[in-house]
Amino acid sequence: MDFKQFNLHPKVQAGVEAMGYVTPTPIQLQAIPSVISGQDVLGLAQTGTGKTAAFGLPMLHRLVQEERGHVRGLVLAPTRELAEQINDALNGMGKQTRLRSVTVYGGVNINTQIKKLKEGAEIVVACPGRLLDHISQGTIDLSRVEILVLDEADQMFDMGFLPDVRKILRALPGKRQNLMFSATMPDDIRRLAHEILRNPVTVQVSRTAPAATVSHALYPVGQHLKTPLLFEMLKHTDTESVLIFTKTKHRAKRVGEQLEKAGYKATSLQGNLSQNRRQAALDGFRDGTFQIMVATDIAARGIDVSLISHVINYDIPDTPEAYTHRIGRTGRAAKTGDAFTMVTSEDDYTVRSIEKVLGTKIERRRIEGFDYAVPAPQKDTEFARPPREPQRRRDGAKPGAGRPAAARPAAGAKPASAVGAKGNAAASGRPAAHGSKDGSADGGHASGPAGKHRQHPGGNRPANHAARRSGR
Ligand code: AMP
Repeated sequence: MDFKQFNLHPKVQAGVEAMGYVTPTPIQLQAIPSVISGQDVLGLAQTGTGKTAAFGLPMLHRLVQEERGHVRGLVLAPTRELAEQINDALNGMGKQTRLRSVTVYGGVNINTQIKKLKEGAEIVVACPGRLLDHISQGTIDLSRVEILVLDEADQMFDMGFLPDVRKILRALPGKRQNLMFSATMPDDIRRLAHEILRNPVTVQVSRTAPAATVSHALYPVGQHLKTPLLFEMLKHTDTESVLIFTKTKHRAKRVGEQLEKAGYKATSLQGNLSQNRRQAALDGFRDGTFQIMVATDIAARGIDVSLISHVINYDIPDTPEAYTHRIGRTGRAAKTGDAFTMVTSEDDYTVRSIEKVLGTKIERRRIEGFDYAVPAPQKDTEFARPPREPQRRRDGAKPGAGRPAAARPAAGAKPASAVGAKGNAAASGRPAAHGSKDGSADGGHASGPAGKHRQHPGGNRPANHAARRSGR
């Protein structure tokens, strides 16, 4: 079976060949004919299954055949990284079509986007918040959109984007083709699908089980020994390109720094970076300048690194869905990969629920010669925040003046050093409020695991505000 069976426009078929795709993936086999025939499609597929080409190729096939100069295809994505990745894929697959695709997301200059939109684009790949800004300023005309793609709809929901999505839908013509992709199908997404899609064809590849090409292993360890164990793992494994997940951006930054100090070509992707520095980190990981990337779930969303050999969960994700998303980064499109997860005794429940979804027990491993008996230190020093720089007050008062002594940071609260760093009595033992706050405005996007069952204090998704701000 090859791509010729789809009878794609020759210029799109040339793109398939340029990308080096020979055999369609299961989601492509199922979705492409339906999309070409003009039907609405609901795709249940996780990242790494080839879903971008599943909607991208038939979309290009449709758009290449008619007029240019106005927006005819709109793709909505939850994060700017995913938007860039989709845009890159469309540009690669559609090189010969000369269709123009523009990305629209927050955190970058809006005028550059306005200029590009004015020059004319047939496809817009956008995050909801910034797109709404363009709609309200009248700098984008969506009145001739023929095909709408909602990618990673469940993530869009998790990040609080659904109200924005609904507003965007009002700016689109009623008669259009709709494609919606989601890795999971919680009730809110099912409802949204009912609202948006007309008689959709549902295509599905493996419910939530990760790619079969990935081998999984758990590494039981004390919380305080995670960093030394990470170094051992890296020493003992022939790793080409490693993506390490932590549960907060603070931990991502710290682990990245520790690896760098130890001489690894490592970088971290975390919320406080400017868009340029994020891009530089991503590009560096892609081109091999960095062998290791440390990131949180949200920051890592949309990373397309087809060469990733290993995913290491420094912290286990909270839900099986989030595990699947992370693991989807390795073993993509039938490549093989390894997924290592460090687990503490507190992770038993999560491990059991992941194993239930996988339908199999995950192998437990110990590294020979590693000293698992080192006791936990008294104080959490490894992930302690360094003292803040004194800040000049606007009224000219001396820094620190007027603050109660107890509110000032303790002197000497330095980060611990790399290998053998002993600390962090129990990050996971902290109150939930701390964990979610620490990671909550990740990349300007709401943080937390990709899964939906995360408990936030107060019950609501406090991260929504951060997400909405970021999308602009
Ligand atoms: P996606 O799930 O769209 O993020 O795609 C995952 C990876 O698989 C990307 O690196 C794609 O370029 C690649 N890919 C998509 N379709 C195919 C195919 N038919 N054959 C080989 N690789 C593919």
